Amino acid sequence: MDIILTVIKGDITKVEADAIVNAANTSLLGGSGVDGAIHRAGGKDILEDCQKIRNKQGKCKIGEAVITTGGNLPAKFVIHAVGPVWSNGTKNETELLTSAYTNSLNLAIQNNIETIAFPNISTGIYKFPKKEAAIIAINTVNSFEDNLNIIKEIIFVCYDDENYTIYNNILKK
Ligand code: ADP
Repeated sequence: MDIILTVIKGDITKVEADAIVNAANTSLLGGSGVDGAIHRAGGKDILEDCQKIRNKQGKCKIGEAVITTGGNLPAKFVIHAVGPVWSNGTKNETELLTSAYTNSLNLAIQNNIETIAFPNISTGIYKFPKKEAAIIAINTVNSFEDNLNIIKEIIFVCYDDENYTIYNNILKK
């Protein structure tokens, strides 16, 4: 069965999916942007889970992801994925952003997550060019093989008009 792809504009902390993805940093202990918004809205249980993961495995590498409770959010889980900082394409940013999406989807399957919402990872403070990041995000989810047919819907949650327009233009084609 095909996975439904949806684009919406808004605040990911309000989205009623099984899991929302956080554009986290390697510390896993919170930050600004969407990371700050998720920790503020989700409450201390998310940070507690993040601290447990930190104690067990140390920092989260760029391109990797971990899963915690959704705390007070409508979503049951938060998948914390670490995207790359843009440095003019010199540091494997494309591969690392692809991995951030793929590893998030693998965690979704392992946790029986049927609906998952992604923010536009790396396109804020990390300055990944928005159009290139959107192409990577869409291509990665489109070519992702979920042989168990667990994931039913992937929602791209755009916060700014520019990303919203970019995603709609790519998906219209
Ligand atoms: P990064 O460090 O990965 O660039 P940011 O949080 O700075 O992470 O930005 C990632 C994307 O998340 C940006 O496109 C930003 O506009 C968006 N964003 C910020 N706040 C929210 C929110 N509450 N819901 C959804 N997206 C958000």
